[in-house]
Amino acid sequence: MSSYDFDLFVIGGGSAGVRCARIAAGHGARVGVAEERFWGGTCVNVGCVPKKIMVNAAEYGQWTDDAPAFGWQVEKGGFDLATLKARRDAEVARLNGIYGKLLAGAGVTSFDARATFVDAHTLDVGGRRVTAERIVVAVGGHATRPDIPGAELGMLSDDVFEMTAVPKRMIVVGAGYIALEFACVFAAFGAQVDVVFRDVLPLRGFDQDIRTALVEALEAQGIRLHPNSRPARLDRQGGHLRLSLMGGEGLEAETVLFATGRVPNTRGLNLAAAGIDCTARGAIEVDAEHRTTAPHIYAIGDVTDRLNLTPMATAVGHALADTLFGNNPRRASYDNVPTAVFTSPPIGTVGLTEADAAVHGPIDIYLARFTPMRHSISGRAGRKALMKLVVCQESRRVLGAHMLGEDAPEILQGIAIAVAMGATKEDFDRTIGIHPTAAEEFVTLR
Ligand code: NDP
Repeated sequence: MSSYDFDLFVIGGGSAGVRCARIAAGHGARVGVAEERFWGGTCVNVGCVPKKIMVNAAEYGQWTDDAPAFGWQVEKGGFDLATLKARRDAEVARLNGIYGKLLAGAGVTSFDARATFVDAHTLDVGGRRVTAERIVVAVGGHATRPDIPGAELGMLSDDVFEMTAVPKRMIVVGAGYIALEFACVFAAFGAQVDVVFRDVLPLRGFDQDIRTALVEALEAQGIRLHPNSRPARLDRQGGHLRLSLMGGEGLEAETVLFATGRVPNTRGLNLAAAGIDCTARGAIEVDAEHRTTAPHIYAIGDVTDRLNLTPMATAVGHALADTLFGNNPRRASYDNVPTAVFTSPPIGTVGLTEADAAVHGPIDIYLARFTPMRHSISGRAGRKALMKLVVCQESRRVLGAHMLGEDAPEILQGIAIAVAMGATKEDFDRTIGIHPTAAEEFVTLR
């Protein structure tokens, strides 16, 4: 047995850290984990989970609007965000408890404290010195405000989860995952939403056809888009906020949400004392094994600023624990990672966009754009689905699959298995569809 207090100490009890700690302990390691804020990290507390509950709430409102077309005589009452918040907070608290139990059940020693480096094997954990043979840094990231005068008057995504009332008007700055998901949620809750973003289309990096189709869908639900726009300053004027845009124009609202990206939580950890280097953006530098510049210290999850997605973080944490303590050296693959944006309708995607695939050689594109049966009846505007396959002309492999439409995240999870396995367009074609579904379009695209 080593002379250290722990075989492994994990800093950060989010998706990456908890999985790594739990699996390492299951392999017999003596594991400690410190979390200063909330167990489960961003995903459980101020991210994926509470966000998805808000998306669900938004859908109920939209379905109520659709219901009369299906024969239901319903009257849509008001929406009470405080009620939703209470139910959502209770669910988050339940999940926090589960995280605690999982760790305790695996024999992990948990510390409700901040941990900082003293030296390469020693940590200060809430005022107590703790030593460990190996250390994993999994401290996540946080949302940032743009560097403009008055930025502190705007909200960040964490603040959304404290809201108890829906503002009449809301300005969202940014057009990434967080901006667009909340824009759709608050539009469905009844707010007038303006989205201000720098590019021509929202969701930079996604497939162009999906981005274009999304614009149509967002505008159909009354969301006002302001492309090619940059915020210049934010001021309080009486009971509302005024966001001035570069070039002169301005917008007014009760609430401004800055969803302009997240940065790693590396400040104040005293990383230099352990010999850990960071990138210019403040992310911890890691090699393919997630090893930092200190050979016995690893970094996983959003603090590495690679693919900032919960399932990626847990996969990496699990693989690292198996590698270090499970006699099973392996890496989680960063290729063909599926992802979803819970807009209305949502987006699901895996693999290469058309533009990225075209760089590597000739490709064929298969695309369908159609109104799903549900919305032929509901008549709801802007609900056309888009499905697209990007196929390598030479190998016939499906390099990318993209969908905007109802249930796209659920559908793309299965498609992602096929894409990761190297399925060809002909493999898709000989698969029998499930009828009547939207998903069957993926096997009937011609
Ligand atoms: P993103 O990086 O996705 O988007 C940031 C947005 O802010 C972009 O539109 C960007 O514009 C814009 N922006 C950045 N800086 C400025 C600035 N100074 N002024 C104006 N606009 C600016 O970040 P998010 O915050 O939306 O999400 C962070 C990460 O969290 C995501 O990348 C994703 O990995 C993860 N996430 C995943 C979710 C999911 O899986 N459903 C949900 C939420 C988050 P531009 O494109 O021009 O650079």
